[in-house]
Amino acid sequence: MAEHLYDVAIIGCGPAGLQAAIHAASKKAKVIVFGKPRNSGLYKAHIANYCCYEKPISGKKLLEEGRKQAESFEAVCLEEDIIEIRNEDNLFSLITESGATLTSRTLILSMGVARKKLRVKGEKKLVGRGVSYCVDCDANFYKGLDVAVVGNESAAVTGAVTLLSYAKTVYLICRKLMITDTLYEQLKQSQVKVIQDTWVKEIIGTNEVESVLLKNGEILKVHGIFVELGAKGALELAANLGVFFDQETVSFIETNKKQETNIAGLYAAGDIAGQPLQIAKAVGEGCVAGIQAAEYAKKQANS
Ligand SMILES: Cc1cc2nc3c(=O)[nH]c(=O)nc-3n(C[C@H](O)[C@H](O)[C@H](O)COP(=O)(O)OP(=O)(O)OC[C@H]3O[C@@H](n4cnc5c(N)ncnc54)[C@H](O)[C@@H]3O)c2cc1C
Repeated sequence: MAEHLYDVAIIGCGPAGLQAAIHAASKKAKVIVFGKPRNSGLYKAHIANYCCYEKPISGKKLLEEGRKQAESFEAVCLEEDIIEIRNEDNLFSLITESGATLTSRTLILSMGVARKKLRVKGEKKLVGRGVSYCVDCDANFYKGLDVAVVGNESAAVTGAVTLLSYAKTVYLICRKLMITDTLYEQLKQSQVKVIQDTWVKEIIGTNEVESVLLKNGEILKVHGIFVELGAKGALELAANLGVFFDQETVSFIETNKKQETNIAGLYAAGDIAGQPLQIAKAVGEGCVAGIQAAEYAKKQANS
């Protein structure tokens, strides 16, 4: 048991988890990180808005470098998923997909979120080649071009309005808008071309997006399509622990400024802890969670 007792266990090896590992391990805590880099939101992305990288950098490369850096601080990284968490006697027990059990004084949840997909023909093939799930991340790539946004809720509408500052033409494809009156007014006053009562049937393109076929038979010639259907967190594991979620959307784990949840010794960082879903925020929260968890573990070990 003793050799499997860690100070800080981290579920998720995206930027939040890796930064947490770096800071916790640099405080000499015994740290273990679980997760598969290819499942990080970052893995297939090219990042142009992260501080200190003026030219777009591959997300895969950032993750590889981050892991090496965490390991250089002696954090252990295991490419395994956690399938169950228990919280007993002030310790967290984690069960991995291969059946191993590890115990830790503290736990950081940084499992990210899964962006909801359209699940239409052409979408998977063209991700990163005109299909995007993040206006804030990718708007800049569409300067002077024609783009479409698909979605019924506020994320789609604000995304479409934001894109007007970059793109030449912005279409908003929706079945039925479910937004506030204020946002509706804003949309009406804007140049966004709203196409209602239909949905995307297929995204067409060989190497990049060329057009979008709608269910009403219309074809829109666009260079990009933004899928803005919201995000869903990897929340089941956390829910079983009795963690509180944010009251507004019930989609993210609620934390305070120390990244503490309502459960002692349990922290959350990155996308799973709320908007904006951006690397800079994930890294910042990971740093805070790593430091806090290492300090908590030290106090617990000495008590
Ligand atoms: C296409 C795309 C483009 C993007 N572009 C940008 C951009 O330009 N700029 C920007 O700032 N952000 C961008 N983002 C967002 C950015 O990738 C995320 O904000 C960031 O990766 C969040 O980091 P995270 O550590 O919270 O989660 P993630 O990076 O998603 O990592 C979560 C990790 O948790 C692991 N995990 C989940 N469940 C388990 C489990 N049960 N057991 C073990 N491990 C588990 C996953 O395998 C994954 O490795 C983009 C995202 C996408 C999808």
